[in-house]
Amino acid sequence: MKLMFLGTASGLPTHDRFSQTVVLEIDKTLHLIDVGDAASSLLAQSKLNHQSIRSIVVSHMHADHHAGLAQVLKTSMHLKKDSDLKIVLPSEGINAVVGFLEACYLPLEWLKYPVEMIPIGDEEIVIRDNLTMNAYPNTHLLGLKGRSFRRLDEMNWQFQSYSFVINAQGRRIVYSGNLRGKLAEIDELIDQNTILITEMAHLRIDEMLDVISQRKPKHVYITHFYPYLDMDDVKQKITDSSFGEAITLTWDGMVVEL
Ligand SMILES: [Zn+2]
Ligand SMILES: [Zn+2]
Repeated sequence: MKLMFLGTASGLPTHDRFSQTVVLEIDKTLHLIDVGDAASSLLAQSKLNHQSIRSIVVSHMHADHHAGLAQVLKTSMHLKKDSDLKIVLPSEGINAVVGFLEACYLPLEWLKYPVEMIPIGDEEIVIRDNLTMNAYPNTHLLGLKGRSFRRLDEMNWQFQSYSFVINAQGRRIVYSGNLRGKLAEIDELIDQNTILITEMAHLRIDEMLDVISQRKPKHVYITHFYPYLDMDDVKQKITDSSFGEAITLTWDGMVVEL
């Protein structure tokens, strides 16, 4: 099993970090966790086969987490993908995504591979044998609740963002998604068997290190970097901590064998 960080930027991509796209490769099948705008190109650049994609998870509807979805589906169609695809996303995104795909001349019926849209809910999500996940609502989008815009009443908007516990071939992977200031918001999901993938854009390294020191995850991969982050300060604080070897700052194209 491999974990691949194809894009490691926050919502502000740069010349050397593209928007967030994380890939889990299990038995030659690919599972995408968030699909930033460059996802299809990054898959091609890493010589990963679109036909092998079996699931795509969108943690919340901010564009940096799903803007690459339509192109991934289009490239997959051109490459004559015929295996089925599960797309797991916030329920409020389903009609909007289907409508956008139709506006892109990509109605689901034309794709020639079966697509199942799975709304995120309370139940365990079963992707395949040995790959299941549970979603945990977080407060990343809380600041948007109560704001109003023209179409809000029609759309039944929940402004819901999720963190995930992924069970992949016996490994416990916690994917923070985007949070709202504190890793402690999901600290109860983290234990000593956890491989933690956490965002950095909305968190402070000191608070993150506090949580890591208490929960002692097996390894931590930090991603979703904001370009104005003081990386030297982050690296120094990680080095100065007693568990720095358990923390990796990811980069675009990084591949980890799990
Ligand atoms: Zn984001
Ligand atoms: Zn966000």
